[in-house]
Amino acid sequence: SITPVITVDGPSGAGKGTLCKALAEAFGWHLLDSGAIYRVLALAALHHQVDIVSEEALVPLAAHLDVRFVANNGHLNVILEGEDVTHEIRTETVGNTASQAAAFPRVREALLRRQRAFKEMPGLIADGRDMGTVVFPEAPVKIFLDASPEERANRRMLQLQEKGFSVNFERLLAEIKERDDRDRNRPIAPLVPAQDALMLDSTSMSIDAVIEKALAYATEIL
Ligand code: C5P
Repeated sequence: SITPVITVDGPSGAGKGTLCKALAEAFGWHLLDSGAIYRVLALAALHHQVDIVSEEALVPLAAHLDVRFVANNGHLNVILEGEDVTHEIRTETVGNTASQAAAFPRVREALLRRQRAFKEMPGLIADGRDMGTVVFPEAPVKIFLDASPEERANRRMLQLQEKGFSVNFERLLAEIKERDDRDRNRPIAPLVPAQDALMLDSTSMSIDAVIEKALAYATEIL
């Protein structure tokens, strides 16, 4: 189809979420937060006591995952089996569990069609790890947003503190590195830039500068 897609891939904490929201607003396009789908799957597994290291147990859960995204005041609320889990899916535990589940090929396969269904007119901004390489390889605009682990741990710490969580920087950094390693080194759909992606390193850039660069690049191509 001719529906345009902008993919934004990169490790956690690089600023993808903020960038994607800004792009979705600027273009008036749909937004896919693919990480939220993996997080919801992880939460569903925890709720239903499904063994997170069993691909066989996770596949049917992924295939029948009852997840909806509901627009609310410029935000997307995440609904799992009728329950609002918007905040619950954002913990480091859920993120780590999601990354374990996401390493299974058949789990990813089971979530593929659901993600592609977000591609609707007038266009889609897709946020994740493999948006430009696997889910939307045909996307005309691909961005890979990176930042140093220390900078990402620092941003995450501030985010969590704002929400009232107390956090330990060293532990956060270790968790971020562990999750990155797993995402980068898995055999299927690893976190790697697409060959035709614009590389952006946000380590010493403000988020506004990142948004400006990405907007200029996308506008030039589209
Ligand atoms: O982006 P976020 O931190 O919410 O993603 C949680 C986890 O889901 C990631 O660590 C990654 O393992 C997995 N994920 C993935 N593919 C995507 C998006 C997320 O494997 N497209």
